[in-house]
This record gives sequence, structure tokens and C-alpha cells, in this order.
Amino acid sequence: MKEMDYDVVVVGGGPAGSVSARYAAENGASVLMIEKRQEIGSPVRCGEGIAKRWLDEIGLQPSKRWIANEVDGARIIAPNGTYVEVDESKAGDESGYVIDRDAFDKILAMKAAKSGVDVMVKTYARGLIKEDGKVSGIVMKHMGEDVKVKAKVIIGADGFESQVGRWAGINTALHPKDIDSCYQYTLEGIDVDRRFNDFYLGSMVPGGYIWVFPKGDGVANVGIGVQMSKIDRPGAAKWYLDRFIESHPELAKGKPIREVSGAVSISAPIERTTTDGVMLVGDAARMIDPVSGGGVYNASIAGKFAGMVAAEAVQEGDSSAEFLQKYEKLWRGRLEEHLFRNWLVKEKMTTLSDDVFNRVIGILADVGMEEMNVGNILKAVQEKDPELIKEFEDFL
Ligand SMILES: Cc1cc2nc3c(=O)[nH]c(=O)nc-3n(C[C@H](O)[C@H](O)[C@H](O)COP(=O)(O)OP(=O)(O)OC[C@H]3O[C@@H](n4cnc5c(N)ncnc54)[C@H](O)[C@@H]3O)c2cc1C
Repeated sequence: MKEMDYDVVVVGGGPAGSVSARYAAENGASVLMIEKRQEIGSPVRCGEGIAKRWLDEIGLQPSKRWIANEVDGARIIAPNGTYVEVDESKAGDESGYVIDRDAFDKILAMKAAKSGVDVMVKTYARGLIKEDGKVSGIVMKHMGEDVKVKAKVIIGADGFESQVGRWAGINTALHPKDIDSCYQYTLEGIDVDRRFNDFYLGSMVPGGYIWVFPKGDGVANVGIGVQMSKIDRPGAAKWYLDRFIESHPELAKGKPIREVSGAVSISAPIERTTTDGVMLVGDAARMIDPVSGGGVYNASIAGKFAGMVAAEAVQEGDSSAEFLQKYEKLWRGRLEEHLFRNWLVKEKMTTLSDDVFNRVIGILADVGMEEMNVGNILKAVQEKDPELIKEFEDFL
């Protein structure tokens, strides 16, 4: 079998993979990133909404090459149509820019390549190589041929369906209530307010929400995430989305120019994301925000940490699970509390009736909100509708 040798191998060419590969290379490691698809970034499986505030942390300047539309904020819309507006700076991790995700992912991969990362597309990881119980590389398939790649550190950035975690013995299994099944159209020829990302809540989306993210005049990504435990058949997410679109004439007149399906984890943070010689990052590590379903930001920030720690591990000649705890500490310090809190919020949200959504969003629309967080929301509810706060007693 043909053999190759690198310090670090990154499996997956999404944001988690490209950012971790780049930071590992910039910190002195020799890096190979492999991507099973023939083209990085394509096909797009994303609502394409991201916040603005974190991009400079991964050295990315806003550019027309990948920004399709800039929004002022988000509108959270109750079943009865009442809505509250939230400024983009306070509206979570999906409102700021609506991007062209294929271009965005390619730019991140190009930045990695410019930093010295070797990139191979149409190349997929088939398994890990273990010597004396320790991971020492991967076997990958390229052009029909198996290739053995020796490496000191493997970064599993292979997305929702990650196999690297499973191969490495890291428990990434998800309960159906912690998965959203998603479907999305990009609709052309609709009436859409390009200043806002819209989020529709209520029983027409069991355990999730419907999003309308405008990409420009008359065009938007219109998608749905439905909690897997609340559906009983394949195709249910599309069915709910179609019913919603039918009942909204401003959308129903649109023509689909793209359709995607996929899944996101909406789980609490998993127990560990590292083992000897292996780190998981992004969707592979279940880092998606359980309320918004957004994962590009988390994948990129954690990718930066993973790349830095991988390079350090190579320099120190120590890629043991103990050493890689540095990565666990960095990403958890930054993201874990928020992910856990939002998982609790998601657990509560999935139990609320349309009436409760209408009343809470009605209150928020009335009082306005400096910053949209759980504390502020409950304070407003307590002041305006003391009866309603009983609904949240278990949560409090
Ligand atoms: C319908 C939908 C809408 C979404 N909307 C948003 C949104 O609006 N905003 C947001 O922030 N997030 C959104 N997300 C989530 C977001 O897309 C992910 O969180 C993000 O892509 C995570 O990046 P990643 O690099 O971890 O994984 P991915 O982007 O999934 O990249 C993983 C890569 O690994 C490759 N791969 C897998 N296995 C192998 C293998 N064995 N060998 C080689 N390569 C492999 C895959 O081909 C893929 O390219 C959405 C997700 C879905 C499904």
C-alpha cells in the first residue's frame, strides 16, 4: 500500500477542518486535509446565516466574494404572527450575514492551502491505524487506491455523520430528541424583507423552527428543523415545510432553485472530544448550538483551538489524551456553558404550547429587549404576566 507521512491529518474540508488545518500549519506542523467530496463547499447544506462578530478571530475579513446579504437583525415570530425584533449584535449566531456557503468554505480551504496545508479532494478516510493500541495514522481511499498516512495527530472534522469519533472509541451517539431533521429550499421570486432573518416558532414546527434567511431581493433560504423524536416518518420535515409555505402566499409563489436535506445535533456538550492522538471538532464533536442549530461559528472557533493544540502536541512529541486535554479546556472554556444552557432552553422550548409562545413573544414585542437572553425574557414575563411565569417554574 502507498504510504505518506504528516504531523497532522485533518479529515473533512468544512469550516472545522479548514480552520484547524490552517492553525496547525501556521504553528509549524506539516498538515494534510482530506475531503471526500469532489469540491469543497458543495453541495451546500446550510441556511447560510452567520453572526458577524467572530470572523476576525479566525482572520477572515468580510468580503463580497462570500457575503450574499447583510441583515440588521432577526425577527422571532409567534404562531399568531406577533414578532419581536432583535438587533444582529444580540440575535445569536445565525444573524448578521447571509453567506454563499460554498464560496465561504472554499475561501477557508484556500487560506489553509496558502498556509502550507496539503489538500486532497475526492479522498475519504476509511479507518484509523493503531499501533500498540495507539492511533498512528489513517487509511484513506484516493482514486480507487488505499493509501496509508502516518500522523501524530488526527483531527476528525468529518461533520454530523462523523466516523472518526466512532473509530477512536469516542461516544458521539445522539438521542432522537437531540437531533433536528432539516429540509430547505432556496426560493426565487418571493416577497422577503432582506433586512431580517425570520424565525417562526410554534406547533407547525414540532420541536424546532422555520427560518427565512434572505439572500437578496426576492430570494431566500426557507428551511425547517424538526425534532427527530417528534416525527414518525422520513420526509416529515419537508411535509411540515411545504404546509408552512402553502399557507404563506408571499413564499408560495416562489420557485425552488435549490433543495437540501440534512440533520443537526441539538444536544448537550458530549463528555469528551479527545483520545490518544485524536481530536474531534465542529459537528463531529456535537458543537452545534441546540437552540439555533447554528454550527459554523462553533466549528471555526474550536477548529482554531484544535489546530493550535495539534501543532503544540507535535512540537512536544506528546499527543496523548492527557496532552490533548489542552484542547478540551480551550473549547469548553469558550463554548461549553453557552451550549449547555441553550440545551436546557431547547428542552424547555420543545414543551411550550402555541398559547405560551404567543404570550411570551407578545410581551417581548411590547417591552422591547436590550439583549435577548433567558434572564431578560423571564424578568419581562414575571413583570407583565405573573400567571405565565408558573409555566417556567421547573425551568427556573
Ligand atoms: C439544513 C441545515 C441548515 C443549517 N443552517 C445553518 C446556518 O444557517 N448557520 C450555521 O451556522 N449553521 C447551520 N447549519 C450547521 C452547519 O452547516 C454546520 O454546523 C457546519 O457545517 C459545521 O462545520 P463542520 O466543518 O464541522 O462540518 P461540515 O461542514 O459538515 O464538514 C464536514 C466535511 O467532512 C467531509 N467528510 C465526512 N466524512 C469524511 C471522510 N470519511 N473522509 C473525508 N471527508 C469526509 C464531508 O464531506 C464534509 O465536507 C445548518 C445545517 C443544516 C443541515
